[in-house]
Amino acid sequence: MIHAQAITKTYDKRVLNDVTLEVPAGKTVSLIGPSGCGKSTLLRILMGLIQPDSGTIRIDGEELTKNNVLALRRNMGYVIQSGGLFPHLSARENLTLVTHYLGWTKKDEDQRIEELCELTNIPYASLERKPDSFSGGQAQRISLMRALMLDPNIILLDEPLGSIDPLVRYELQRDLKEIFSTLGKTVLLITHDLGEAAYLGNDIALMRDGEIIQQGPIVDIVNHPADSFVEQFVNAQRSPLEEI
Ligand code: ADP
Ligand code: MG
Repeated sequence: MIHAQAITKTYDKRVLNDVTLEVPAGKTVSLIGPSGCGKSTLLRILMGLIQPDSGTIRIDGEELTKNNVLALRRNMGYVIQSGGLFPHLSARENLTLVTHYLGWTKKDEDQRIEELCELTNIPYASLERKPDSFSGGQAQRISLMRALMLDPNIILLDEPLGSIDPLVRYELQRDLKEIFSTLGKTVLLITHDLGEAAYLGNDIALMRDGEIIQQGPIVDIVNHPADSFVEQFVNAQRSPLEEI
């Protein structure tokens, strides 16, 4: 379980203001909100990549500190919008960076990679290629494989499908949903698409200007918006049939 309690962070202006967020074990929470509202900053704080000015992060009840951050991070997989794969390494080398460092045998690495190829629908033999020889959707599948290599309980995704074209995106959303539920992972997914947030998340947390305005199931957010911002945000997502 991920628990962020009263997180505050200021750069030249306040970016996060007393943010409290919970992702229950085995559930997916979609974090959504306008660009610049603080989503990525919150996610980096959850990973311990940056420190908050105040507030605490607990991972499965254990408070995140300087001393345990590396150990706790091994239990978290991280996928970002651009994939974040190293371009000069083959896909396989990208997948095995950390396992290599941890001293896994080639046999163990291969076995894990084969499992993940099956899960993400990536042909094993293609992994000798460099990341830029894959399509955007395939590259994101490989990023997801990399995040899953150590079989973490927690997966954090920062707009993972943001740059993927609509048809592939639709397919990846379906696959992600299946993967999350099959594996029983605890997932925090950042998106700016309400449809995607609702499809993938058990709960949605809606953020504005460094604050979480409302967290709950999509039906509550649509039927009982906390304020006019939430209402506007919901209404701003155009349905394809609206213009007909
Ligand atoms: P989001 O992911 O919701 O688009 P971010 O968390 O990336 O938003 O950024 C929130 C705000 O914090 C933005 O105004 C951004 O410019 C600012 N910000 C983020 N990182 C830094 C930084 N390292 N230094 C200064 N300002 C930052
Ligand atoms: Mg962001």
